[in-house]
Amino acid sequence: EKIAILKGVVKKYNMDGYPLTAINNVSCTIPKGEITFVYGPSGSGKSTFLNILGMLDKPEEGEINILGQDVLALNDNQAADFRAKHIGFIFQSFNLLPVLSVRENVEFPLLHHGLSHHERREKAEYYLESVGLKEYVDRRPGAISGGQRQRVAIARALVTTPALVIADEPTANLDSSTSDEIIQLMLDMRSHFNTSFVICTHNENLLNESGRLIHIVDGKLQNIGVKQ
Ligand code: ADP
Ligand code: ADP
Repeated sequence: EKIAILKGVVKKYNMDGYPLTAINNVSCTIPKGEITFVYGPSGSGKSTFLNILGMLDKPEEGEINILGQDVLALNDNQAADFRAKHIGFIFQSFNLLPVLSVRENVEFPLLHHGLSHHERREKAEYYLESVGLKEYVDRRPGAISGGQRQRVAIARALVTTPALVIADEPTANLDSSTSDEIIQLMLDMRSHFNTSFVICTHNENLLNESGRLIHIVDGKLQNIGVKQ
């Protein structure tokens, strides 16, 4: 079963009047309930690939089907709704709101889902417990460690029960043992919630983890394989 199918995707940027092809004719599928690592050197097009898969940006050419929907056919409002419902994001710099508590940060994506305050709170606490942060719900992001902040971000990405979670260099700001813990947590969350993760990284160590690999060099797909 496939979460996403990309065909012939091309994304160009305008660099001082010259076109720069960031992603060139990329076709691939993202399987359901698995972790896919996207790796390649800096500047190779990994973020561009994730931004397009995550519907944050549109390609010039190609087809993108997510959960059976031709997402390029959606208008901006429909695309925003689809994204909020089905896709969660985890960023390198955590992107937590510093004035909100850990619990409020995780409640945030639920604000427009028609839930009562009590239901939002229960869901947030459930996901915070599942990432091991039960004791930290009332803290501010500034009062917890980097690894704990990324755990909050993982809970925030999962709280809307998305089919797909996209993580752009999620361990780049963490030391290596904390990085290992965060990757292990995503592997656990994948099996526990049957969520598909797509994680981009230039950290070779992460590629020791089992998962599917998409290798991008100079905007082109080099190969797709499975790491056991
Ligand atoms: P990676 O994530 O692998 O580092 P990116 O997708 O960020 O690669 O970038 C791929 C290429 O596209 C790079 O040459 C980068 O400089 C260029 N690029 C990325 N985003 C933009 C943008 N918004 N405008 C212009 N060029 C961009
Ligand atoms: P990463 O290597 O982690 O992908 P980058 O530094 O390449 O991070 O890019 C960070 C952000 O800046 C991305 O959103 C990317 O689209 C944008 N960006 C990258 N290169 C350029 C560029 N040459 N011009 C404008 N924006 C860029």
